[in-house]
Amino acid sequence: MFRLLMIVVVLLLASCGGEQPDSNDTGVKPTAKTFKWRMVTTWPKNLPGMGLAPETFAKMVNIMSDGRLTVTVYGAGEIVPGFGVFEAVSLGNVEMGHGAAYYWKGKVPVAQFFTTVPFGLTAQEMNGWLHHGGGMALWEELYARYDLVPIAGGNTGVQMAGWFNKEINSLDDIKGIKMRIPGLGGEVFNRAGGSAINLPGGEIFTSLQTGVIDATEWVGPYNDLTFGLHQVAKYYYYPGWQEPGPTLEFIINKDAYEQLPPDLKEIVRAAARTVNDDLLSEYTAKNNAALKELVEVHNVELRRLPDDVLAALKIISEEVIAEIPGDDPLAQKIYKSYIEYRDSIESYQDISERAYINARAAD
Ligand code: CA
Repeated sequence: MFRLLMIVVVLLLASCGGEQPDSNDTGVKPTAKTFKWRMVTTWPKNLPGMGLAPETFAKMVNIMSDGRLTVTVYGAGEIVPGFGVFEAVSLGNVEMGHGAAYYWKGKVPVAQFFTTVPFGLTAQEMNGWLHHGGGMALWEELYARYDLVPIAGGNTGVQMAGWFNKEINSLDDIKGIKMRIPGLGGEVFNRAGGSAINLPGGEIFTSLQTGVIDATEWVGPYNDLTFGLHQVAKYYYYPGWQEPGPTLEFIINKDAYEQLPPDLKEIVRAAARTVNDDLLSEYTAKNNAALKELVEVHNVELRRLPDDVLAALKIISEEVIAEIPGDDPLAQKIYKSYIEYRDSIESYQDISERAYINARAAD
């Protein structure tokens, strides 16, 4: 028994020490080859939360790979404009990007399902669909058309419905409102009688201040406080029906990805998965603190959208998202998978998250 123990100890020591680790037991052959990647993003450099997530990813990869893969992050406009990320990575002009799939709706409408759709999945549900419900394989199949490898890259959680200067008490109150609300939410808002306007984040404050727009949504308390939107709008409405749990994305040029040895591929995936989880944790904690400040220090008036307004917006949303797949069989498959997952998860959410949160909130 003692001899056996000694042999084990000696083997363990042998595997830990030495200048040249023997990695035969992992099946992975370390390579001295180094890779230098550039990652472009849709975010202004160092934007809190989503803008710093790619920096966290890069730091992790650089350390975990012991410098064999170094990733340098560039903000929007440094190499390509924010909305040029997809094409730059697809063409291989840069190796990697960070952004959100719904920004590419002009080119790939069905990609919106991999970020968020109105009255769609929450962050937790998105992670379930992508990683254990078949979503990721569909995303990979879709992006393979563009020589891209997608990986989930963070989530903001449920957003806020937005900032208004008049109260919304009925659907009629939406009529004629000029609101910055992008994507499918904007399309729904238009069909509800409003006027949706798409503006980049940096133009929102001034546009609301000068009356170019009457209302806006951005993200949630954490990011909205930074923009100072409480200085130019009175009411802060919830819940964010238009973006219930947007997943961000890492995209990697397929050739660049294939050139990596298996251990570096796994490091990239592990770091991305960590960032995907960590960003949601950050938003959960920071939104809470920022909301407190908005209400207690800046006297922001919180308002809940009336039930009948939400119900009307939901009916329009279902029509709008059903139009996305068109004639493309893969897009139809993605739509079907997403909707079936959403509808099936409802019954369990009802008796788990919703039931529990309601019970905890009861006096
Ligand atoms: Ca938003």
